[in-house]
Amino acid sequence: MKDLLVMKFGGTSMGSADRIEVAGKLAREALAQRPVAVVVSAMSKVTDLLLDTLRRAEGGDNAAVEANLKTLAERHEAACGKLLDGAALDQAVGEVETLVAEFRRIANGVQMLGERPPRAVDEAVAVGERLSAMMLTAYLSRHGVRAKAINAREVIVTDAVFGNATPLMDKTRERAQRLLRPLIEDGMLPVVTGFNGATADGRPTTLGRGGSDFSASILAAALDSSELWIWTDVDGIMTADPRIVPGAAVLAEVTYREAAELAYNGAKVLHPRTLAPLVERKIPVWSKNSFAPERPGTRIVPEVKAPPGPRAVTSMAGVALVSLEPNSAEVSGTRIMGRALEALSATSAEVLAMTSSSYQQSFCFLVRKDELERAREAVEAALSLEINHEYIKPVEVNENVGLLAVVGEGMRGKAGMAGEIFTAISREKVNVIAIAQGSSELTIAIVVAREGLDKAVRAVHQQCRMGETAGYTGIK
Ligand code: ASP
Ligand code: MG
Repeated sequence: MKDLLVMKFGGTSMGSADRIEVAGKLAREALAQRPVAVVVSAMSKVTDLLLDTLRRAEGGDNAAVEANLKTLAERHEAACGKLLDGAALDQAVGEVETLVAEFRRIANGVQMLGERPPRAVDEAVAVGERLSAMMLTAYLSRHGVRAKAINAREVIVTDAVFGNATPLMDKTRERAQRLLRPLIEDGMLPVVTGFNGATADGRPTTLGRGGSDFSASILAAALDSSELWIWTDVDGIMTADPRIVPGAAVLAEVTYREAAELAYNGAKVLHPRTLAPLVERKIPVWSKNSFAPERPGTRIVPEVKAPPGPRAVTSMAGVALVSLEPNSAEVSGTRIMGRALEALSATSAEVLAMTSSSYQQSFCFLVRKDELERAREAVEAALSLEINHEYIKPVEVNENVGLLAVVGEGMRGKAGMAGEIFTAISREKVNVIAIAQGSSELTIAIVVAREGLDKAVRAVHQQCRMGETAGYTGIK
């Protein structure tokens, strides 16, 4: 099969009947040119609604559960009402009812247990994507496209880490080739649910919040597709968040590694794990705006022609810095660090950046605020003996910080680059609290005082002239 295109539509691109219509048109146009497979997210905010419903169910709040279910059904039925008519509408509304009932059954179980087993949560939240796959399929069918809704649970095989599963690529590939390929070769358009999968023995899983991008790249790799297009509501990957930096521009091209670093450091345009499955087969990705499909978007490829240097700056405000410091130089800082990191990895709190000093043997790490309590408890528990005996000082937390990350291939090779960046920040009188330049060569992570974060981002963007070298500018 030649020239297969995998297209993924995110939550806003599926967020209303109008948006689904646009998605349907984009898929249909592409299908007129080449074989296509589509991956969809749930309608915007639906996953949040489903998760909230399960939490309410766990707490025994039946009224809230019922109200949420009503909202869920009405939003999808309203969209169906605009997209379809006649028998197709009746059928779609019937399917909405069936899927909502399926969700209700699990929510009721959660309510009875007073507990949310992760596996049940994963099965339940996938209903959001199943609803949107059903609607897009119905819309396409009505317009003469032979489309088929596919539950990714049949195709994407994962490990059993519920809520944040990792695909088993060989098994997934085998399923995709066996189940999807014949459909596509027959000229059909599979519409696959994003976000979910199942273990080899069929237990439902999900790939983590925002995981539909990842689903799309997993399928693109498993089907040997020649391109992946990710449709969102922005023009592509930008040199900075345009709400912070008015002169931010869309990057014409970035490398896989740059895109992954940007996503990891807070750029919301792509799920951080998206690029990994594509590296081996070098499948190019386009990040495009479904609200302005004529714009080129950003191309994400193994290598780019742009000269090395800083390409974009991201920031994260909701973070906290946790510091550990031994009371005397006799305590092994390395051992403390090792134990702390082990404890952190067991909580699955993500360490966003980390630095250590060799003399005092102190070290600090950055976590998201919503993971702070978990992280702190884990570290304190693991080191309770040392803390109680005052071998190390009490754990210190600074919530008044922000993370800024400057990303670009080959930055380390550019002499004076780091100096320029820090000069720009200090010119704004923003306090730099910690610095981490990973061995990755392409990111400098800088922790600054929270109130100076936006100023620092603007200063770095201007100093490195990111807006001017992006490739094409001025849109947005
Ligand atoms: N619907 C899921 C979420 O909101 C997956 C996605 O949209 O990518 O996390
Ligand atoms: Mg998304």
